Amino acid sequence: MKAPDNDTFDYAVDRFADIQILRYRAPGFDTLSLKQKQLIYHLSEAALMGRDILFDQKCRYNLAIRHTLEAVYTHYAGDRENKNFQSLETYLKRIWFSNGIHHHYGNEKFAPGFPAEYLDALLRSISPSALPLRKEETIDDLIGKLFPVIFHPDVLPRDNNYYAGGITPQEAENFYAQQKDPADPTPISYGLNSRLEKQAGGRIAENVWKTGGLYTEALEPIVAELKEALPYAENKTQENIIRHLIRYYETGNLRTFDAYNILWVQDTVSEVDFVNGFIETYGDPLGIKASWESTVNFIDKEATRRTEIISTNAQWFEDHSPVDERFRKKEVKGVSAKVITVVMLGGDCYPATPIGINLPNADWIRRDHGSKSVTIENITHAYDQASQGNGFNEEFVWSDAELESIRRYGFLTNNLHTDLHECLGHGSGILLAGVDPDALKSHSSTLEETRADLFGLYYMADNQMTRLGLLPDPEAYKAEYYQYIMNGLLTQLVRIEPGKDIEEAHMRNRQLIARWAYEHGQDEQVIELKKRNNKTYVVINDYPRLRTLFATLLAEVQRIKSEGDYQAGKRLVETYAIKVDPALHAEIRERYAALKLSPYRGFVNPVMKVTKNSQGETVDIHLDYTESYTGQMLRYSRNYSFLPAYCPE
Ligand code: ZN
Repeated sequence: MKAPDNDTFDYAVDRFADIQILRYRAPGFDTLSLKQKQLIYHLSEAALMGRDILFDQKCRYNLAIRHTLEAVYTHYAGDRENKNFQSLETYLKRIWFSNGIHHHYGNEKFAPGFPAEYLDALLRSISPSALPLRKEETIDDLIGKLFPVIFHPDVLPRDNNYYAGGITPQEAENFYAQQKDPADPTPISYGLNSRLEKQAGGRIAENVWKTGGLYTEALEPIVAELKEALPYAENKTQENIIRHLIRYYETGNLRTFDAYNILWVQDTVSEVDFVNGFIETYGDPLGIKASWESTVNFIDKEATRRTEIISTNAQWFEDHSPVDERFRKKEVKGVSAKVITVVMLGGDCYPATPIGINLPNADWIRRDHGSKSVTIENITHAYDQASQGNGFNEEFVWSDAELESIRRYGFLTNNLHTDLHECLGHGSGILLAGVDPDALKSHSSTLEETRADLFGLYYMADNQMTRLGLLPDPEAYKAEYYQYIMNGLLTQLVRIEPGKDIEEAHMRNRQLIARWAYEHGQDEQVIELKKRNNKTYVVINDYPRLRTLFATLLAEVQRIKSEGDYQAGKRLVETYAIKVDPALHAEIRERYAALKLSPYRGFVNPVMKVTKNSQGETVDIHLDYTESYTGQMLRYSRNYSFLPAYCPE
């Protein structure tokens, strides 16, 4: 169990625009063997070496702009305190964060915040040798190419570099449609690892990302680093996995990539694990091309014990759930999920980071070989710690008693609720014979999330939690109950624009549960909305009674699902999940705005410090957490800039 009580680590690193930068810790790293640390070290180097690839994938001007601004930022000798320089610094920090000039979340190009004349003057004040100029190129050439992209809102307002030469989406789709064989039960991920280019004369061809191909300048050092990692592999399987990845990078062969993924998904033994490659296709509107990303991690054995306890007792939970016996599963298949600690984030996982990963993506591999589902708990821990004392709970929580309970148990109960939701909730229950799985139609995902959340909430307060050692205190569940109801009735409204309804399924499910429990407990005042100084707060008067309300609603939602009762499901969603009280909504948004919190957060990585003996052999590796955001970004640009920084011709 993590101990937030004596955690004095400072998680906050930097803040600019709409972003806060945090650092994460990797507890347990020191207890790994030297061999494991060396494996992690080489995989981490490989994780950082692909940074330029992502910049170039997002927009072909990104690298030239980053290098130009870094040169100015590093070499400019004039006034660094004035408003324009501060804006330039913020702009550069945003580019580092978004891996380019387009917002990491909304994908729209962001404005520099300083005039073109200012950058023009700064560029001419530094030595041209610091700038990414080709032999014959002048500063005027550079300005002529880059300034429209930086300063003109209509130039590349959204962009990617996955298609070149004026290919239309239709041409790209046709190109791949022709290659696909609908009868192939194990198709490769067509087009995943290449730029599609229309050449002079109109011929369309793939420029594959591999050594000897596109991005070879970055992929060669990655491959070299993976080879360095081989002797430190934990076992033959892992060594074989790394060998397959190397072969894939060297050939670009997507069959090899599939073979690599199958080996990777089957390795549940190695303690150290990693992702390195062209993985997710969110950045391509056609969903074909994958951005480069990497993470390096090791298993959090203690937290994984929690998910293992839950899976091994899955049948007990199913047998004791408060739903009609006819709707229970007679035989529950154990679900496995592990909890990991990341030590390095790279490419599209950096600085903005996922908190869970479920790979590989190929449907047939998931079907035939399964997938690995992980929770990155040192990241959720850092988020939790950074949120303590940011004023949010102090603003919205009713009294010190609830604040204290959340401070002590909130992180633990939140993770446990997620585990119960994922490992048990979704997998519980059955459909009665003949019921259409799509019977609940457009409300099915809201009701499904409701069901999984209620399953978790119900068991959170069960004595079985302390008996199994999942909770230290039979009262701990109150932290989750309070936060859940507060979020469902009040605080999640900060993410809804004024005048809008709740649309997203998870948000609907939370309000459904909170509103339903509020109304059905009203006679007994189980939950109250109390006013103090014109501010609204949630007060829970009777926690055990709240649990029985959750049980009643779970039984009903399970019945709706098992019987496919569309009308009842629709009524639940429409009555409780969608509409927002405008006055309350306005109040909550106003209180939130006054806190001035950053809506987006990301991370700096630790620095790996290698200790060598007099023979030059590595004797230990430590993690250092003191690097600043700007310091890290400039260091990465110095040490891991492999791709050409010139402007596109
Ligand atoms: Zn879910």
